Amino acid sequence: MVTDFAIIGGGQGGIPLAHSLASAGKNTVLIEAKDLGGSCVNYGCTPTKAAIASSNLAHRISRAEEYGLEVPEFRVNFKLVIEQASAIARRSREGLDAGFENVPSLTLLRGHARLAGRDEAGLFRILIDGHEPLGARQVILNPGSETIIPDIPGMDAARAIYSENWLNHTELPKHLLVIGSGYIGVEMGQFYRRMGSEVTLVEHGAQILSHEDADVAETIEKFLEREGLLFLKNSKVEKIEWEPTGGARVRLNDRELKASHVFVASGRKGAAENLGLETLGLKADAHGFVPCNKKLETGVPGVWVCGDLRGGPLFTHTSWDDYRILESQILGDKSRTLDRIVPYAIFCDPELGRVGMSEKEARRANRPVRVTGFEFSWNGKANEIRETDGFIKLVADAEDDILLGAAVLGPQASELIHLYVTLMNAKAPYYAIRDAVYIHPTLSEAAQSAVAMFREHRWQKKAV
Ligand SMILES: Cc1cc2nc3c(=O)[nH]c(=O)nc-3n(C[C@H](O)[C@H](O)[C@H](O)COP(=O)(O)OP(=O)(O)OC[C@H]3O[C@@H](n4cnc5c(N)ncnc54)[C@H](O)[C@@H]3O)c2cc1C
Repeated sequence: MVTDFAIIGGGQGGIPLAHSLASAGKNTVLIEAKDLGGSCVNYGCTPTKAAIASSNLAHRISRAEEYGLEVPEFRVNFKLVIEQASAIARRSREGLDAGFENVPSLTLLRGHARLAGRDEAGLFRILIDGHEPLGARQVILNPGSETIIPDIPGMDAARAIYSENWLNHTELPKHLLVIGSGYIGVEMGQFYRRMGSEVTLVEHGAQILSHEDADVAETIEKFLEREGLLFLKNSKVEKIEWEPTGGARVRLNDRELKASHVFVASGRKGAAENLGLETLGLKADAHGFVPCNKKLETGVPGVWVCGDLRGGPLFTHTSWDDYRILESQILGDKSRTLDRIVPYAIFCDPELGRVGMSEKEARRANRPVRVTGFEFSWNGKANEIRETDGFIKLVADAEDDILLGAAVLGPQASELIHLYVTLMNAKAPYYAIRDAVYIHPTLSEAAQSAVAMFREHRWQKKAV
């Protein structure tokens, strides 16, 4: 079989790209080893946010009195929470599957794909489990990323919980030990805690969420501690001994702990193993990511990368935007590249929305910076809805009125951050927001007030 384009991996970039190439009349084959939708749909964004909606509601119910409500005792049905999150993911996946039925020029093949050099006609040769070898004029690599199972004595991937298998664990852990306090560790740690588990997070560094400014990360840590999560920082898991009756005895550098379950969230690597990169002279870096230029071209003309495999920000929206870059490079005017502003959110509660540089990044880059902020407790709507935790922190260039970055820690932060995303993409001065008329009472007024604070310079972050 011969095709114009072969896409290896049906992830967040590969699927829309397959449809776009096919509708432009290019013969396109997409090869998926497991489930269409990849990590986002099947075990990442979709089911985690569905499950977090349950745990956040449980938390709201526990605060019902603050709203003048008396709620008779309620019970968490953890198995049902997981089943519902799985069902939402399944519906999403089924929608993607249906999108491949009878589409002209588009073929979906199920099986693991592996590059195997070039055939005698000079086409890229791809071996696919259960299918004839495929010859492709161009190849897009979209295999995503996978959990790194750390090399700790006693670590047993079959017993540990991690992103790829958490939906199979329908029993609520009594005491969950989470290894790693990046965004997955923090989101999932709070989820299990709000469902009723005791949760301990082990972090080898001195700060959780190490990419964030210390004041932002420390505030999130305090919010989570208030709910009973225990953080062990500067701590390292040195050995795990699994008990025959279930559970684990975990030895850290400075103590020993017993946990009923262990959740591994200490990082992800590009899914470059068994891709056959070497048959084309390509090589992944030490983290499994495949180097590429701003156009997503690898060192081999005609072989492109898309999504997590490129390294850099590992998000669904970046993988999806990679599809737009590839579409522009392959079918369009080639203007779209990796020169882009990438926002992201951490879906703890309250949420963190982020865009651009943090204060520490701006200072490290020797930028002349001005920093200001605004507390949600100063915003009317936040008080009315009893969600006053958190703040907005803004970083601007001291020499002009352009925003370098923003952190919104508070209610609806993953939505509010887009005000600043739009401002930064438009390269508009921050007073574009300040001088607009915003609806009252809204949380967006806090975003507006934060910008106005650049004039007033009276933000002093409130202690938690
Ligand atoms: C727990 C968790 C929560 C997350 N939450 C968020 C979030 O809230 N927001 C956000 O933006 N991002 C989130 N992410 C990240 C997001 O899921 C990924 O960044 C995104 O899905 C990456 O898309 P992709 O296109 O690179 O790969 P994927 O979507 O992972 O797809 C890759 C596909 O390739 C297939 N494949 C791999 N190798 C082969 C092969 N050799 N042959 C054939 N098929 C192959 C895989 O089976 C998979 O289906 C989360 C991730 C995790 C793990």
